[in-house]
Amino acid sequence: MAHSHNDHSSHDHVWAADLTRNQGLVLAALAHADTPLSAYQLLDTLRGDGLRAPLQVYRALDKLVERGLAHRLESLNAFVACADEHCRRKGLIAFAICNACGKVDEFADAVIEECLGDWAGVKGFKVERTTMEIRGKCAQCVQAV
Ligand SMILES: [Zn+2]
Ligand SMILES: [Zn+2]
Repeated sequence: MAHSHNDHSSHDHVWAADLTRNQGLVLAALAHADTPLSAYQLLDTLRGDGLRAPLQVYRALDKLVERGLAHRLESLNAFVACADEHCRRKGLIAFAICNACGKVDEFADAVIEECLGDWAGVKGFKVERTTMEIRGKCAQCVQAV
């Protein structure tokens, strides 16, 4: 196997190697942002990289969300890169969204998942996907007051 030279700056995240260029650009932009980004903010950010049509961004986002590499926050209509490499095989994803600084904390909580599982069992409801969005103030913003 030939030695391949990679001149991209190395990155901590290990992402799927089969992303298209656009998907990779969108995911990198999300991963480097401190707060969730809307499709139009992504378009603004990536204009210089050759993404000019909203459809290019939407298509890339669709694929990333489908694969669990990024998540859509319904209440903000914005996107974040998945922060938890284990969440892709879990049914529940929870986000704590800070109203003050906009920071989003992704977590999966076994207790919440169990409670929901019990409820679903009692109701006979078949859960396919659960996304929780918790709005409030992060620890840092609470302290800053
Ligand atoms: Zn995730
Ligand atoms: Zn905050």
